[in-house]
Amino acid sequence: MSDYDAIIIGTGQSGPSLARRLVAAGQKVAVVERKFFGGTCVNTGCTPTKTLVASAYAAHLARRGGEYGVTIGGPIGIDMKAVKARKDAVAGTSRRAVERSLKTLEGCTVYEGHARFVAEKQVAVNDRVLEAERVFINVGGRASVPPIPGLDQVPYLTNSSMMDVDFLPSHLVVLGGSYIGLEFAQIYRRFGSEVTVIELAPRLIPREDEDVSDAVAAFLREEGIDVRVGSEVIGVKQQGNRIAVDIRSAGTIAQVVGTHVLVAIGRRPNTDDLGLDRAGIATDPRGYIEVDDQLRTNVPGIWAIGDCNGRGAFTHTSYNDFEIVAANVLDNDQRHVTDRITAYALYTDPPLGRVGMTEAEVRRTGKPALISTMPMENVSRAFEKGETKGFMKILVDRDSQHILGASFLGLAGDEVIHVILDMMYAKAPYTVVQRAVHIHPTVSEFVPTMMGDLKPLQ
Ligand SMILES: Cc1cc2nc3c(=O)[nH]c(=O)nc-3n(C[C@H](O)[C@H](O)[C@H](O)COP(=O)(O)OP(=O)(O)OC[C@H]3O[C@@H](n4cnc5c(N)ncnc54)[C@H](O)[C@@H]3O)c2cc1C
Repeated sequence: MSDYDAIIIGTGQSGPSLARRLVAAGQKVAVVERKFFGGTCVNTGCTPTKTLVASAYAAHLARRGGEYGVTIGGPIGIDMKAVKARKDAVAGTSRRAVERSLKTLEGCTVYEGHARFVAEKQVAVNDRVLEAERVFINVGGRASVPPIPGLDQVPYLTNSSMMDVDFLPSHLVVLGGSYIGLEFAQIYRRFGSEVTVIELAPRLIPREDEDVSDAVAAFLREEGIDVRVGSEVIGVKQQGNRIAVDIRSAGTIAQVVGTHVLVAIGRRPNTDDLGLDRAGIATDPRGYIEVDDQLRTNVPGIWAIGDCNGRGAFTHTSYNDFEIVAANVLDNDQRHVTDRITAYALYTDPPLGRVGMTEAEVRRTGKPALISTMPMENVSRAFEKGETKGFMKILVDRDSQHILGASFLGLAGDEVIHVILDMMYAKAPYTVVQRAVHIHPTVSEFVPTMMGDLKPLQ
């Protein structure tokens, strides 16, 4: 038995920062990690995928070189081993930095192994049982693999095993037309694979507004991706050295035969092998740990932070969980999850930056609202760069003049959206940004213009 003030299970996006804060406050901390330091974001999520997005963008731009007056002798080639090596170098640098920082942190002991509760405040790892007054669970999640007939009989890929791919799949079939699936689909299409995306819902990224889904589907199709929506995967089987995917759409059965299948149908929390029952920690039916507005579980002294609590699914929400818990536990500064404004990005090219409510959500509230949209073709910077796909949309509460939400699908949409996000955090009326003088030529300069062009949402 070893005694600590705090045990942190998992080194995702909140655990390591919390370890540093607890140690700085004089606490003796144990950190347990079973695989890669830095968790999903660093090793199989944000960092490697955005590195691959960068390689794919370079290939795409090189192919378009002629449009800019750039001549490149011969066809554009992709060296997949070099692409992977670059990705590994970037992710590896981050992983080693997290590992080093924890292992050299005075007051922090790192255990490498699988942690499992054996009692309320007792966690077994390897041959030891650690005990502490406080336990913070930061175990994250993994790809959810649905029980599609035959899927377990074929060598399917997930976001994790995609990280080992150092060759060009001839035909990648992506099951799932949402955020993770679409990023991989465009990446591999730009590398040169034939790509098919199969989505059950009637449109891609169905949580977004219809005009956003349609615009994304249009530019992916334009790049040569075969997008099949309203299509249910009913079976998967090996066919020689290829994989056949049977789909049913509108009562018709069809088959897509590819060389590789990527399952990107959703995520599930890593809570099924954590011994939560031994500690009496409650989960919801999907396995997410139930927490209150300050991320406390039903067991006093145990918190759940990051994706495993189901309150966020992003690196920034996990990091914000750390900030909330650290403020509440160490600073007597009462912070809450519900103070957070929904914000995220889809890293296709062009990217989608999102904040607050969608137009559909605003309509459902029934509140009088104002809307402003602008096609990226009207944005001079986008025109100059030759990247005019997409549009920007802002929604405002007519009475309070507060911004309700925005969708920026277009050049730098993932960055420009922060103009809106910060206005929302400031709880400022839209008229403040309407009078701000933004820099020309940028995409952001059109945000004040759009605020001056708000019309009633019909
Ligand atoms: C392909 C992909 C792309 C993504 N892109 C983005 C993006 O661009 N932007 C964004 O904000 N988010 C993105 N995400 C989501 C983001 O990666 C996660 O939200 C983020 O990593 C937060 O994770 P976390 O802190 O909850 O834990 P994780 O990062 O998942 O880490 C959990 C850690 O706990 C360890 N662990 C689990 N169980 C145990 C156990 N029993 N004992 C010991 N250790 C254990 C795991 O090994 C892991 O290291 C992406 C995700 C994927 C899959």
